[in-house]
Amino acid sequence: MAHSIVVRGGIVVTSTNEFRADVRIEDGRVESIGSPGSLSADEKIDASDCYVMPGGIDTHTHFENPSLAFTTKSIDDFASGTEAAAYGGTTTIIDFVKTEPESSILESFEKRRAVAESKCTIDFGLHPVVPIAAAETGALNDLALLANKHGAMSWKFFMAYPGSLMVDDKTLIEGMRLASQLGVLPIIHAENGHIIEDATNRLVAAGQTDEHLHHEAHPHVAEAEAVFRAVSIGEYVDSPVFIVHVSSARAAEEIARARRKGQPVFGETCPQYLLKSYEDYQGGGFGAAAYTCSPPIREKSNQAHLWRALKAGELDTIATDHAPFSMCEEACFPPQKSNGKGYFPRIPNGVPGVEERLMLMFEAGVCGGFFDRCKFVDLVSTRPAKLFGLFPKKGDISVGSDADLVVWDPNSPRILTASTLHTKAGYTLYEGIKVSASPRYVMSRGEILISPQGASFTSGRGKYLHRTSPMFSV
Ligand SMILES: [Zn+2]
Repeated sequence: MAHSIVVRGGIVVTSTNEFRADVRIEDGRVESIGSPGSLSADEKIDASDCYVMPGGIDTHTHFENPSLAFTTKSIDDFASGTEAAAYGGTTTIIDFVKTEPESSILESFEKRRAVAESKCTIDFGLHPVVPIAAAETGALNDLALLANKHGAMSWKFFMAYPGSLMVDDKTLIEGMRLASQLGVLPIIHAENGHIIEDATNRLVAAGQTDEHLHHEAHPHVAEAEAVFRAVSIGEYVDSPVFIVHVSSARAAEEIARARRKGQPVFGETCPQYLLKSYEDYQGGGFGAAAYTCSPPIREKSNQAHLWRALKAGELDTIATDHAPFSMCEEACFPPQKSNGKGYFPRIPNGVPGVEERLMLMFEAGVCGGFFDRCKFVDLVSTRPAKLFGLFPKKGDISVGSDADLVVWDPNSPRILTASTLHTKAGYTLYEGIKVSASPRYVMSRGEILISPQGASFTSGRGKYLHRTSPMFSV
């Protein structure tokens, strides 16, 4: 007999509604939803002082992610990364697959999927990264196979990092056209790689290599131009476009402009762009390396615009781009952020944040008055599920959906600090920030991973998610 659980009397929050109810879970799914006190089960969880929300979905993580030259990897693997995610109330992640040297995207995908299947404690999907010059090499055939065979229904196109990841416009055109024919969502790292390369070379030639100058090497125009180009190619080939990690007002405005014309263009932003700014690390010496990510964390004046865009529905999701590298300077091998000490071009790009996302966004977004709880659920769970082909299995609390639930305690104040977070990065950009709410229980397909009694993880219990086409209306 399957073990059943009832989550009793909490306020169920979905992207559209709030209501007090019992939620009964059996065989890993939501079996029924009833009036408070009406349902019973083998195990009862009292949620009367909590919200009950669908688990967070982070569609942008980089666990054990090889650096550009395949010389180091982000420091969280699929085990520690998904455990950190679960601690913060996230029950699904979508990570990336790059083509490994001397390999194809198809082989690289199957290999990485197997690694993730052996380690993830929560369910996961994978976005293949479109290989450089895919339009010429036949790699588009592999991508089609990944969509059809593995349900890999979102493909990442890099417009930055010439020579390693950057695709040319021909690959953007042919790749996005094929994506649209197959019902795949193109997701874009929108920065003009040649502008970044040029700006970097000019800074280096002038001896300007301090860590914080990574910011100067990634000018706003590089992001805005790439968003406009991606959106224009999307219009030309009649494809939806999803822009990841929107960092600036100008980039957000390009998305909003396309949207006003009725084009299916979507955007993600991340906590680091909403809560942190250039002013936090400018002149910060090696400390600035902790903030180094691409696009860079911008001037503070951008934050208000991003919050407004989220509220207005001009940006769709909040993910983390969790790509953790250690700041350790001595006795650490391989060196990570310290590789670029005093020389910004060699700092590995990326910041941690997979555990903090829901706590930060509830605090700043809901408690801060930018949006209500339903909108919060929409931004961190429901919209990601819809756009990335997981809805209504994920991202909802309805009969039949996976019992990926968070019992969210609105009165559980804590101070975020690296020593109690679970990333191996060893630091957080949000050190000392007080949040008033955090998860009391976290469940993945009805299994309790986090409870007041502690955590219970099993590497490899997370299932690979075959995904479907994006659901959207414009
Ligand atoms: Zn990323």
